Amino acid sequence: MDHTLSALVQIDLDGAYVRLLVTGCVTEASQPALYPLIRRARALSPPVTVTVDLTVDLTAAEHVEVVGVDLLRWAVDHDKSMGGAGPVKILLPDELPDHPPRRPG
Ligand SMILES: [Zn+2]
Repeated sequence: MDHTLSALVQIDLDGAYVRLLVTGCVTEASQPALYPLIRRARALSPPVTVTVDLTVDLTAAEHVEVVGVDLLRWAVDHDKSMGGAGPVKILLPDELPDHPPRRPG
């Protein structure tokens, strides 16, 4: 099955926060698609003083894999290429959703 995600970037007009609203599937295979978005969102931060609060919001995703979230969290914490200062908050739904498997035919 095809697990794909899409993300909407919301930027607070005061520049106080950037939110990546993720929909679709957040899986081991799909989550790297978020890396360049996170890099770009971090690059939006003003170069001085203000630390922008970056949130990756997965509460609207229809399918979230634990391993996908783990890899994503690890990447934002450890991947130097993510650059930028400031923490990245990952918002999760209370229970990780999964969509029913699609049956052939
Ligand atoms: Zn899926």
